[in-house]
Amino acid sequence: MNNRNHDSCCAESADPRQVLRDIFGYTDFRGDQEEIIGHLLGGGDAFVLMPTGGGKSLCYQIPAIIRPGTGVIVSPLIALMQDQVRAMHQLGVRAAFLNSTLSPVERSLVERQLSDGELDLLYVAPERLLADRTLAMLDRSRIALFAIDEAHCVSQWGHDFREEYLRLSILHERYPDVPRIALTATADGPTRREIVERLNLGEARTFVSGFDRPNIRYHIVAKHNPQQQLLSFLKSEHPADSGIIYRLSRRKTEETAQWLTEHGRRALPYHAGMEARARQRNQEMFLHEENVLIVATIAFGMGIDKPDVRFVAHLDLPKSIEAYYQETGRAGRDGLPANAFMTYGLADVVMLRQLLDRSEADDQHKSVERRKLQALLGLCETIRCRRQVLLAYFGDRLMEPCGNCDTCLHPVEGWDGTEAAQKAMHCISRTGQRFGAVHLTDVLIGRSTERVKQFRHDKLSVFGSGSQIPLEEWPSIFRQLAAMGLLAVDMERYGAITLTSESRRLLQGEREVRFRRDPKPERKRAKSRSTSGNASVAICGPEEAALFERLRELRLNIAREAGLPPYMVFHDSSLRDMADLRPLTMTAFAGISGVGRQKLERYGERFIEVIRSDSKDVE
Ligand code: ADP
Ligand code: ZN
Repeated sequence: MNNRNHDSCCAESADPRQVLRDIFGYTDFRGDQEEIIGHLLGGGDAFVLMPTGGGKSLCYQIPAIIRPGTGVIVSPLIALMQDQVRAMHQLGVRAAFLNSTLSPVERSLVERQLSDGELDLLYVAPERLLADRTLAMLDRSRIALFAIDEAHCVSQWGHDFREEYLRLSILHERYPDVPRIALTATADGPTRREIVERLNLGEARTFVSGFDRPNIRYHIVAKHNPQQQLLSFLKSEHPADSGIIYRLSRRKTEETAQWLTEHGRRALPYHAGMEARARQRNQEMFLHEENVLIVATIAFGMGIDKPDVRFVAHLDLPKSIEAYYQETGRAGRDGLPANAFMTYGLADVVMLRQLLDRSEADDQHKSVERRKLQALLGLCETIRCRRQVLLAYFGDRLMEPCGNCDTCLHPVEGWDGTEAAQKAMHCISRTGQRFGAVHLTDVLIGRSTERVKQFRHDKLSVFGSGSQIPLEEWPSIFRQLAAMGLLAVDMERYGAITLTSESRRLLQGEREVRFRRDPKPERKRAKSRSTSGNASVAICGPEEAALFERLRELRLNIAREAGLPPYMVFHDSSLRDMADLRPLTMTAFAGISGVGRQKLERYGERFIEVIRSDSKDVE
């Protein structure tokens, strides 16, 4: 082992709280952070399950800074490494990364820093870590700990499976005395067990945090005109914020980005079909500029650690509740209010059912997939608190309705739909199971359209049989019946709605249904935001909001000078504190959350200057 001269920025201050304050500028640990850090400092292994934005990184960063030697962080997200390293440099922490993007010269430099003990943190891609050359180098260096980020990549059933992760168990065999910490935001039981087994973490202490993201407000609305619905939502909730909009196809991402641009927003597409350079450019804009919207397929987001994404919108149904939770989890990592917005309709149900039917999976897998789809549809159609439904899916119990989702804020009625469903089914049956929802609705409400007359459906007994139910309820009825599996949609025959074995049970009076009454689309959402364009200052008054905007301008200027994303200068939450507390001295400024030693020195005076001049204006 090499001669060590570990003159870390804070080796002298070996107390975790001190490091939290001095380096990161935070006053208190969150959740299990302190216990996890203590456990690693004592030499133990840890397995950490924490939701996105829960604060996983501190759990290995602080022990890596305090323990002698370098903390080695294994991460599959090459795109993120450079950002993480820059964020560490901003805090004055000695960090570097090793991955395929480095030139040989750069790589040698990092290797030398490592063996000379000049690094607190080293981020490594798994395949790079497992290379003989790297392992040999690690043998010669002092290692503070191994952190295995995104540990669920070891799971062969998961959608992020990474072959190389399977080999990470050798870390334990090769370096038995080095503490290890595995971290993930993926919670389900089987994945958890797989991680423990494959990474050889049987001895590790497990830390599970609740999966709730209380700052995210969930909205799921019936789809009419999704782009228009999105625009209204943006106008009322996010006139000037960053956000991600998910669409299912490449073509739709382009369309929606174009459409938003025509309506005065800065919106950029992102999907796997784009040229790599253009894609990279759009991602950079999203990270480095303010108020940029990204319209993406799910290819976007894995490598994105932007803390001030104020909303995530799905204009198409995601694949599963897991995917929905992961994608919406990208909003509001900074803990400030954020929105998750989704539009959902019959076509989405049909599409997912079709995918399932065509799937080549074996029966066991298919039944798992079917249950997952049913759970997702259940979330969309619930009249209960969305958060209770979501958390229950992950095995977490929330005792009381959350008060921060659409169904809590605007309670939705349920109604006995058995008779309406029977009418719909009779109509489907009499018209030969050959027609789609629009035509069936015409027949049910008794509208003599050309098509109705052409097929002589106005002569049937079912013609007009549903006329006492308002016209606009019928699309919602068909959608809910399809979601429950009480009707099927035959895409081979242009969306013809057909009966299922379950429909027969309902027709024979063996089962009942309850529907949700979708809120009327034109109903104005209660205004919940302040006059400011930025959702994160919602709780401030107009003067604070004005100062916040000026601080944001300064932040953007500094970020541009330094070639950094603005959030690496300060998070929105720090700016909000500044606008609230108006610190006018360096000592007072040091008390702002997120202001550590290095940021105080670098930026303190410039921000105080803006606060001072603004305070004069106010007087
Ligand atoms: P995760 O990796 O779990 O998604 P991060 O480690 O990125 O979460 O942390 C999320 C955000 O919370 C970051 O902006 C981080 O700076 C902030 N954070 C973490 N721990 C604390 C703390 N103890 N006090 C204040 N902010 C914190
Ligand atoms: Zn709720």
